Amino acid sequence: MHKVVIIGSGCAGLTAAIYAARANLKPVIIDGHEPGGQLTLTTMVENFPGFPDGILGPELVEAMRKQAQRFGAHFYSGAVTAVELKNRPFKIEAHKETFEAETLIVAAGATARLLGLESERQLIGHGVSTCATCDGYFFRDKDIAVVGGGDTAIEEANFLTRFARKVSILHRRKDFRASKIMLDRARANPKIHFVTPVTVEDISDPAKHNVEAVTLRNTETEEKSVLPVSGIFIGIGHEPNTKIFRGILDMDESGYLKTHQGSRTNIEGVFAAGDVQDKVYRQAVTAAGSGCMAALDAEKFLEA
Ligand code: NDP
Repeated sequence: MHKVVIIGSGCAGLTAAIYAARANLKPVIIDGHEPGGQLTLTTMVENFPGFPDGILGPELVEAMRKQAQRFGAHFYSGAVTAVELKNRPFKIEAHKETFEAETLIVAAGATARLLGLESERQLIGHGVSTCATCDGYFFRDKDIAVVGGGDTAIEEANFLTRFARKVSILHRRKDFRASKIMLDRARANPKIHFVTPVTVEDISDPAKHNVEAVTLRNTETEEKSVLPVSGIFIGIGHEPNTKIFRGILDMDESGYLKTHQGSRTNIEGVFAAGDVQDKVYRQAVTAAGSGCMAALDAEKFLEA
């Protein structure tokens, strides 16, 4: 029987682990499908406080992991397949192993949707990005593209004009689902160009470890074209990793867990932290902050 089990080992899960371990709660962290979370998909992180010269995303999560281990956190590699949260102790199944826990912190994160191209996979962190706030700074005076037609894509495009020379919004339809106010702002921005209705067929050039251009297909005329760009931001949405909690934990219409009074969920003793419950801020530092809150809430719950 464990006092605290944490699902997820990104910024939120690792910060919760550091706090719970220092409170002598000997937390068990179940790594998940993507150990280290979304930071492992980025290169330089320049906005995490305390690193004036920046730090590589994978290095940052590795340092947090070591910090948690130093205080007695135990890591288990595997993904959670089922949870039983009706009665305490909670039961968490991961890879044929069942963990029993007095409290559970869900920090399973969200996964940025990708287009599914092989070249996209090869160039992620080398010009292909899913986070404008993280990587926009690297594209000063460059021509870049943003894929998507929702609020994320339009907001990212607006943000990226602070750095880029030209931002092309590539969307598969002529109509946008983004809110009118954001679209109007983008349309009024001379640095933003709308390219519709197109899908991205390929990104070159994985052999050079650099983004040089995207191949587009017009979905009405089937005409192909090549757009030279130095970077491409994929803004087609995120999926919170909450499938196994459906019908168990309260979530909004997009599947993000609902929290109240800090990190509490609808089940007493179950807490949520990081991107699994945040579709607004989605930053490493906010995820870390909410991981801290969840660990403190779990500690208080155990004391009571
Ligand atoms: P959305 O699901 O709203 O939009 C995703 C966009 O990506 C759609 O335009 C969709 O096209 C396109 N898309 C999806 N899959 C593909 C694909 N495989 N290839 C090409 N294009 C694709 O996600 P968002 O992340 O934009 O927004 C999620 C939620 O968060 C929304 O409720 C939004 O309002 C909110 N949000 C609010 C913000 C704010 O208020 N500041 C900022 C960011 C998000 P199609 O339209 O054709 O389906």
